[in-house]
Amino acid sequence: MTQINRRIVLASRPEGAVTADNFRLEEAPLAELAEGQVRVRNRYLSIDPYMRGRMNDAKSYAEPLALGDVMIGATVGEIVESKHASFAVGDKVTGMFGWQDYGISDGAGVRKIDDTHVPLTAYLGVAGMPGVTAWYGLNKIIAPRAGQTVVVSAASGAVGSVVGQLAKLAGCRAVGIAGGVEKCRYVVETLGFDACVDYKAGNLYRDLQAATPDGVDGYFENVGGEVLDATLSRMNPFGRIALCGMIAGYDGQPVPLKQPQIILTMRLLVQGFIVSEHLEFWPEALGTLATLVASQKLHYRESVVDGLEHAPDALMGLLQGKNFGKQLVKIS
Ligand code: NDP
Repeated sequence: MTQINRRIVLASRPEGAVTADNFRLEEAPLAELAEGQVRVRNRYLSIDPYMRGRMNDAKSYAEPLALGDVMIGATVGEIVESKHASFAVGDKVTGMFGWQDYGISDGAGVRKIDDTHVPLTAYLGVAGMPGVTAWYGLNKIIAPRAGQTVVVSAASGAVGSVVGQLAKLAGCRAVGIAGGVEKCRYVVETLGFDACVDYKAGNLYRDLQAATPDGVDGYFENVGGEVLDATLSRMNPFGRIALCGMIAGYDGQPVPLKQPQIILTMRLLVQGFIVSEHLEFWPEALGTLATLVASQKLHYRESVVDGLEHAPDALMGLLQGKNFGKQLVKIS
C-alpha cells in the first residue's frame, strides 16, 4: 500500500465564481489507525453543487469549511485496513470521505454497499443522496397524483433526472427544463419525460406554456432565477413547489423573484428542504431506488473526470452546467 495520501484542501474562499486558486493539492503520510477505525481507499468522488456553499464563510444550513480543510464530499471505495468489528478489508462502502485518496472513520455514517446489481458509482447518484433528494421532494412535498403535471429544472442532472422518472412511474405528465438541445433530447428520448424545454433557446415562457397545456401542479426547483419565474407563471391553484436548489445563484448573484404574488393568488405551497435532515426516509428511498436501478426502470448518466487532481475542474464545470448527468471524479 502506498503510504502517501493525496488530498485537495480549501486554499481560499471564492469571490464570485470558483477558480483553481481556491484549491490546493497536498500530500501527507497516512496516519496510523486507532482501535475502532477503518481506512477506506476512495475510488470515486461525487461532485455536488452544495460544495460551492461550503466554500463561503456565510450563514447557511451547514457550517462552512475552514481554510485548509479537506474539501467535503461523498465517495465510494473499499476498506483497505480495519480495526473495527463491523468492517472487513475488501468491504465496499460509501461515506463522506472527502476529496482525497484515503479516508479514516470510526464507522459513523459509513454504509456498506453491494455492487452486484447496482454499479458502485450509482451509490453516489441515482441510488445515493441525489436520488433520495428527488424521492423526498417529489413524494413528501409535491405528492403528485396520477394525471397531474410535474415540472423539474436541471432535468438531465443527478437529481432532476430521477424526479421526472419517478413522476412518470407515478402516472404524471413529466416536463423537464434543461440547458441545450442535446440534454433535452436525452431527457425525452432516454429518460422518458413527456417533454423538455430548452431554457437556452430564448423562448422559455412560451415553450413551457406549450409543454404544460394543463398548467403545472408540482414544480421541483433546482435552479432559481428566470426558470423559477417562468414556471411560477404556469402554476395551477394549490400547486406545490419543492424548493431543492437554486444553482443559478450559487456564485453570488441571486436573482430576485419577479412575481412573488403568484404564490398568494394561486395559493401555492412552497417548501424548501435539506435532504440530510430527513434521514428517517433514507432507507425506504434508497431501497426503492436501488430496486429500480437493478431492474433498469431508472436510467441515469454520468460525467466522469479522471484523476483526483482534476476535481476542481469538475466542480467549476458543474457550476457552469458543463456536466451531463451525475458528475463524478475517478480517483484512481
Ligand atoms: P446536476 O447534476 O443537476 O448539475 C447541475 C446542473 O444545474 C447543471 O448541469 C446545469 O444543467 C444546471 N445549472 C448549472 N448552473 C446553472 C445556472 N447558472 N443556471 C441554470 N442552470 C444551471 O446537479 P445535482 O442534481 O447534483 O443538483 C441539482 C440541484 O439540487 C442543485 O441546485 C443542488 O444544490 C440541489 N440539491 C439540493 C439538495 C437538498 O437537500 N436540498 C440535495 C442535493 C442537491 P443545465 O445545463 O440543464 O442548465
